[in-house]
Amino acid sequence: MVRTLRRVGPLVIGPGAAGHPVLNALTVDVEDYYQVSAFQSIVRFETWPAYESRVERNTHRVLDLFDEHAVKATFFVLGWEAEQRPRLIEEIANRGHEVASHGYRHRPVYSMTPAECRDDIIRAKQVLEDITAAPVRGFRAASFSIVDRSLWCLDILTSLGFAYDSSIFPIRHDRYGIAGARRFPHVVRRSNGAIVEFPLSTVRLCGQNIPVAGGGYLRFFPAGLIAAGIRRINSMERQPAIVYLHPWELDPGQPRLGGPLPRRLRHYANLQRMEEKLRRLLREFAFGTVSTALAACGALSPTPRGQWQEAIDDETAAIR
Ligand SMILES: [Zn+2]
Repeated sequence: MVRTLRRVGPLVIGPGAAGHPVLNALTVDVEDYYQVSAFQSIVRFETWPAYESRVERNTHRVLDLFDEHAVKATFFVLGWEAEQRPRLIEEIANRGHEVASHGYRHRPVYSMTPAECRDDIIRAKQVLEDITAAPVRGFRAASFSIVDRSLWCLDILTSLGFAYDSSIFPIRHDRYGIAGARRFPHVVRRSNGAIVEFPLSTVRLCGQNIPVAGGGYLRFFPAGLIAAGIRRINSMERQPAIVYLHPWELDPGQPRLGGPLPRRLRHYANLQRMEEKLRRLLREFAFGTVSTALAACGALSPTPRGQWQEAIDDETAAIR
């Protein structure tokens, strides 16, 4: 049956959405405190094994929190971590969550050649699929590093059979973002195929896109403001939001590393308040995995390999 899509401004959503709660996507980037881009200048990949690993315990805290609220999420897992801790990834999958890829060694896409990037993505995908025995359908680049000059990464993802990507932040930022990119789920058609993009959530304020729903933004802004932002996206724009967090953000006791002061300030800000903020969001809004949220808004069918709904409008093809 072909569903009729309803257009709201430049956006396309499924029928029957009005009056029903919008299903938002809940996502976790599974990486440890020393692997983040903020510390890349002082922590080399080769030295990772020397650091105290806290990702397992912190991911368990996230899993328990989600169980408490009976919510399922998508876990974008770093391939290197999956290789070290396959049991943890099995547990994520066994507890009903979606396992997706965060690349192998957390290198920003634009810092790699296309060949290096392809190898990194293939390696992570293989590790994850070997563990879960299920296809990996989703990808999130390290530090949202699919930007104007690295859009070729989408070609790699489509050629490897990924159904969706969630790496594009429609904001202006010194290290990532495509200012003016679309704000909500849409199909991106590339020369070699199509992929659904679920951009990181923003609200429009004074002509600017303001990030509201994840990581440092989630820790920095008051909980009431975050909730108001998601409510606005759900109620006024009738679109799903995508919330992202990292296991280390629930760990105020993590070892303190050096590095540039602005990055340290951002990494360590309000870690002790993250859990309480998350609880509020989990109580107030409906959340699910990226695949279920995309299926609910009509952007992606719930079939295992991602088949496009016939009625998805061609105008969603352009990235902007
Ligand atoms: Zn990351």
